[in-house]
Amino acid sequence: MSEYDYELFVIGAGSGGVRAARLAAELGKRVGIAEEYRIGGTCVIRGCVPKKLLVYGSRYGAEIEDARSFGWRYEDLRFDWPTLIHNVQREVDRLNAVYTRTLENAKVDRFLTRARVEGPHTLRLADREQPVSAEYILVATGASPTIPDVPGREHLISSNECFQLELLPESIVIIGAGYIGMEFASIFAGLGVVVTVLHRGDQILRDFDNDLRDGLAVAMRDRGVDLRMNTNVASIEKEGECYRVALKEGGSVSAALVMAATGRKPNTTELGLQRVGVDLGWNGHVAVDEYSKSTVDSIYAVGDVTDRMQLTPVAIREGTAFVETVFEGSAKCVDYAFIPTAVFSEPEIGTVGQTEEEARGKCRLIDIYKASFRPMRATISGRNEMMMMKLVIDAETDKVLGVHMLGPDAAEIVQMAAIALRLGVTKAQFDATMALHPSVAEELVTMRHRWEPPAPIKGSDAAA
Ligand SMILES: Cc1cc2nc3c(=O)[nH]c(=O)nc-3n(C[C@H](O)[C@H](O)[C@H](O)COP(=O)(O)OP(=O)(O)OC[C@H]3O[C@@H](n4cnc5c(N)ncnc54)[C@H](O)[C@@H]3O)c2cc1C
Repeated sequence: MSEYDYELFVIGAGSGGVRAARLAAELGKRVGIAEEYRIGGTCVIRGCVPKKLLVYGSRYGAEIEDARSFGWRYEDLRFDWPTLIHNVQREVDRLNAVYTRTLENAKVDRFLTRARVEGPHTLRLADREQPVSAEYILVATGASPTIPDVPGREHLISSNECFQLELLPESIVIIGAGYIGMEFASIFAGLGVVVTVLHRGDQILRDFDNDLRDGLAVAMRDRGVDLRMNTNVASIEKEGECYRVALKEGGSVSAALVMAATGRKPNTTELGLQRVGVDLGWNGHVAVDEYSKSTVDSIYAVGDVTDRMQLTPVAIREGTAFVETVFEGSAKCVDYAFIPTAVFSEPEIGTVGQTEEEARGKCRLIDIYKASFRPMRATISGRNEMMMMKLVIDAETDKVLGVHMLGPDAAEIVQMAAIALRLGVTKAQFDATMALHPSVAEELVTMRHRWEPPAPIKGSDAAA
């Protein structure tokens, strides 16, 4: 019998923590887990899942409109926010129960309280006096929205509160144009809310391929979203039922709600980590090696609390690799190559591999293939809708380095492309693959002509 209460104690019952706790318990280990909010974590309770359900809800309006051109007739079309948000909350409750049952069935001891680290093998739970001891501690506390430090910041909501809104606002200002900002801008715009996005950078979605960034910005403006770049917030003031957001550049914007989508910070505050010798990184994240081990041998960390990719499947893989390494005796690290990601904006982005800019920095020669076309559906609906696809190829090896898509079902298509990219697919193999017709995805295997940058206009160099 071990000298510790638990062989593993996990702090945080989100994607990474629940996976690690369940797998270790299924190996027969004594496992405890602490959760200060709700079992399931960000993804299930206030992230991916409720967000995607709101995305679905926000798309029906345009789809029903389009249906008219396909012969459908309807009367009295109205949108009812309470129905949507309550149904989303009901699904979140269901998943919360599923995750709780999963831990119960695996015989993981659950503590619905806040935990803090007191020593390499000791934890303190907020609701009891006796400390708990564990051979290994896994920090899986995730991250939380950052709120910009501006006068009036107390008026700001974050994505967390969006899932609790009892009323749909008539207008909203969203500060920040990362993927969460773009997704919520699309959700609200799709539901008829007047949306303004304020962003300090010169284009939305930093780190994405430039064609995706430009293409989505154009499409969102077409749909009526007011995207304002190079704009910094000076202050937020309550003004009657609304909020006035003053801009450093001068002027202001008024809206019924103001949301901060300005990034997420690892949850390490008051966790006691540094006092026991765990190094934290530039952003307060737990510094870990490739096996997710911190600077203290018995303390590991997975998921958003580390400085890797803040995505659910990544947290789950890291939790799995941790259990294999520590409890199964086979050291496993996660392979971060070719992780596909999506932005569930309207239109949607799906992307995997290197951006054109990245590839230009890494390869001697690259080829670009691009296609931009109206999906077949739009020919009848008349909607101003475009599909953009782009392949980034290493011209010396013919390897496909990146696939970037903007348009309907981009996320679903790119998930499949990611398999091929991981296997080292070449452009010639894309071309040899038979097209599936008629589909938007067939364009990926029928792009024959290299994209050439536009030739400079004659005389323009001399004039410069
Ligand atoms: C709005 C939004 C949309 C997103 N959409 C996507 C998406 O479409 N696809 C995708 O892959 N990812 C998405 N993500 C990211 C994804 O949710 C996270 O990457 C994932 O949940 C990280 O899992 P985790 O286990 O690291 O942390 P979390 O799931 O955040 O779990 C951490 C848990 O620890 C608990 N906790 C923190 N401190 C303590 C403590 N001291 N004691 C006890 N408990 C504690 C928290 O309450 C939380 O439940 C989204 C995130 C947000 C916010």
